[in-house]
Amino acid sequence: MFGDFTDRYKELLESDVMVTIRQGFFQRLLILPRYNIDSDIDFWTLFNDSIGELNPDTRFHFFHHIKLDIERRAEDECHVFGQFEKVRYKCRDNPNLVTVEGRCKNCGFYTIAAFRLDKYIQSKFEEFPNRVIIMTCSNCKKDGSVEFPMLI
Ligand SMILES: [Zn+2]
Repeated sequence: MFGDFTDRYKELLESDVMVTIRQGFFQRLLILPRYNIDSDIDFWTLFNDSIGELNPDTRFHFFHHIKLDIERRAEDECHVFGQFEKVRYKCRDNPNLVTVEGRCKNCGFYTIAAFRLDKYIQSKFEEFPNRVIIMTCSNCKKDGSVEFPMLI
């Protein structure tokens, strides 16, 4: 499986898709392969099994690294920074919670939510392309109108 895994990275590194992030590939430790398309490999299962084999301390540090990376991207796109910081601060000691801003397609209201990082990553693996997590808007109450971006 390791060969298949590294072949996928090699393929991505050589594709145009990765051109913009190739420079920071190692620096950012971008170890999440993208999507299950064009492959017989179930990357989510492989990724999840690999994470499960890490010792708890290493797993903690790994999740923390991914969490910070996602939250930096969320911060760059954030519109209600005060709310974002409050939620992020509450979740600061939990490496398996990631804070993301969502926006209502119906009324434009911004919502900040903390997602379980493992479930957030799983959504990325299993849904393609440009999957968003949806919720009911707390402002206009419309079902499924708030969209949270996948920032990994
Ligand atoms: Zn709304």
